Amino acid sequence: MPGATEESVIEFVCNVCGVKNRCAPAALSYEKPSCSQCQSSVRIRSLLRVLAQEIFGLNLALPDFPRIKSLRGLGTSDHNEYAARLAEKFDYRNTFYHREPRFDIANPPEEEFGKYDFVVSSEVLEHVPPPAEACFEKACRLLKPAGVLILTVPYSLDPATLEHFPQLYEFGLAQLAGRTVLVNRTREGEVQLFEDLRFHSGAGGATLEMREFSECDLKAKLAAAGFCEVRIYSEDYRPFGIVHDASWSLPIAARKGPFALSLDATRDVVEEWRELKLKFNAEMQTLGRSYWFRIGRKLKMF
Ligand SMILES: [Zn+2]
Ligand SMILES: [Zn+2]
Repeated sequence: MPGATEESVIEFVCNVCGVKNRCAPAALSYEKPSCSQCQSSVRIRSLLRVLAQEIFGLNLALPDFPRIKSLRGLGTSDHNEYAARLAEKFDYRNTFYHREPRFDIANPPEEEFGKYDFVVSSEVLEHVPPPAEACFEKACRLLKPAGVLILTVPYSLDPATLEHFPQLYEFGLAQLAGRTVLVNRTREGEVQLFEDLRFHSGAGGATLEMREFSECDLKAKLAAAGFCEVRIYSEDYRPFGIVHDASWSLPIAARKGPFALSLDATRDVVEEWRELKLKFNAEMQTLGRSYWFRIGRKLKMF
């Protein structure tokens, strides 16, 4: 049958490490590693594609990003595989809640406000103690006026967010009859016991799920926090091996204001573009429709 063999194998370039991959479509799951080189999953590749789209308006792979050291980014528990590469391209630093370099997105230092062009928060905000609103609000305040939050969290299409422990105040995990339970003393002094906890496994070990967001509540929380534009990236992008098998828990870009590269950032791009043009002048002629050409066009450099 024509077409059947093409569908049995997907070829894609990993937009995190740049390596070519071939795999069965079924191997492209949201969380399981599918790049043979850097072990990126569909979630990680789509997260990085959202970043490229939001900054450059292009489907650029991370190794092809221009170096823009005047563009400042903040990672919260980002995977080292892409965090290290982001640090090469931008003035980006990765941080963690439980280890150094520490950063608590619910309580960032005042002097951090308004400093970032982008903040990445992937699979973090379902784990922060309530109220989650505080984190959305602080993420927005960390951004410059034209900054963007690149966000993934598991979410449902239900009408409301399911907050598992809404009255969390003084709490801890304990072992009870061989099972992990959560004990909480509410602000009013009532002691609560929660069983059937859900943990997500991540780089830092198993982390307790505090809530399951719903899509409409997420949008409402982002708007209330001060984000003026929220875009859910639901489309597939097969050249990067991004194929979504569900219509929920998709990557989100939340903009504080309309995007504009600063003068410094534009200068960085122009300079790098000029250098490359000198170095690869002949090739640049033939690569008329390459990404450099398109970035140049986008920035009205010619
Ligand atoms: Zn890769
Ligand atoms: Zn999680």
